[in-house]
Amino acid sequence: MQAINSFFTQLTQPQNVIITTHQKPDGDAMGSSLGLYHFLIQLGHNVQVISPTNWANYLDWMPGVEHVLDFETNKDKCKELIAQADVIFCLDFNTLHRTKNLEPLLANASCTRVLIDHHQQPQTEMFHFGVSNTTKSSTCEMVYDFIVDSGHQSNINLNVATCLYTGLMTDTGSFRFPSTTASVHRMVAFFKDLGLEHTPIHDHIYDNFLENRLRFIGFVLNNRMEVLYEYNAAIMYVYRNDLQKFDIKTGDTEGLVNYLLTIQGIKVAAIVIDRDEERKWSFRSKGNFDVNTFARVHFEGGGHFNAAGGRSDDSVDKTVQKFKQVIQQYESQLQ
Ligand code: 5GP
Ligand code: MN
Repeated sequence: MQAINSFFTQLTQPQNVIITTHQKPDGDAMGSSLGLYHFLIQLGHNVQVISPTNWANYLDWMPGVEHVLDFETNKDKCKELIAQADVIFCLDFNTLHRTKNLEPLLANASCTRVLIDHHQQPQTEMFHFGVSNTTKSSTCEMVYDFIVDSGHQSNINLNVATCLYTGLMTDTGSFRFPSTTASVHRMVAFFKDLGLEHTPIHDHIYDNFLENRLRFIGFVLNNRMEVLYEYNAAIMYVYRNDLQKFDIKTGDTEGLVNYLLTIQGIKVAAIVIDRDEERKWSFRSKGNFDVNTFARVHFEGGGHFNAAGGRSDDSVDKTVQKFKQVIQQYESQLQ
């Protein structure tokens, strides 16, 4: 993978560009994709954002989201566009399997693949150009750097700013996590000077759910939570039945795991959710417990030091048992 600045000269030639991101895109994945989209169209490129799967309703207000193709429901169109592409930008993931069924199309594409990402252990051999920086708060921050460093700061308009602010906000836990550097706040100041209104963005993302989600959270907190005080760990587990009973959709379970970290003394939190084809884990930690490594070693996953995901083919009960067993190895680290 060559450094991203060697790619900048190619920006001046209008090209067929695809932007893609990880499955079930979150605020940073969709925000960085659409932020880059609103920038590149100003340079005359022919740009298409493709999401490997559907996304949460709480992202449906974003400027340009109506042009995003869901690969699962537009396979033929996406295949055609990828075949015609000159460049594919890969944002907010660094191993192709994070794009689920899109993986073979990306792997076999003959065009240039460009990576912009902040996760650990990138599959660098799969990208021609790119930037991977695990110290960055968000991929949105990195797209901002990409625009500025390539000499195009004046192309940051309100659409670009709105999309990039979204991922900055969601990936920093609303400017709370240690990754929230002075440069993150400077970016926000720049957006505010442009006229960005941040309150509606917070409202769209965090205050736009239906009653059933709140009742579901109450149910899970009451009935599906265990605190393992000897390991300063807490877990939640959600059965498929629970999801059906409360009519839970993509995105409704986002952030649930963070409630566990609000318990005094808890250093590691985990939730497992029975998705259709697998049991999907989310891990969060505070301080020096590395959930990226934990997820990689025990649950076929990865991510960041303090936030990672994983998966299992086992039943919910069985994979929860496994968690309780493997966490014992970390007892001293978690004191
Ligand atoms: P979440 O728990 O919110 O789904 O994910 C937390 C972080 O870990 C995100 O940055 C996400 O992209 C990453 N992540 C989630 N699941 C996986 C996985 O299965 N593999 C890898 N490598 N990263 C993951
Ligand atoms: Mn991210």
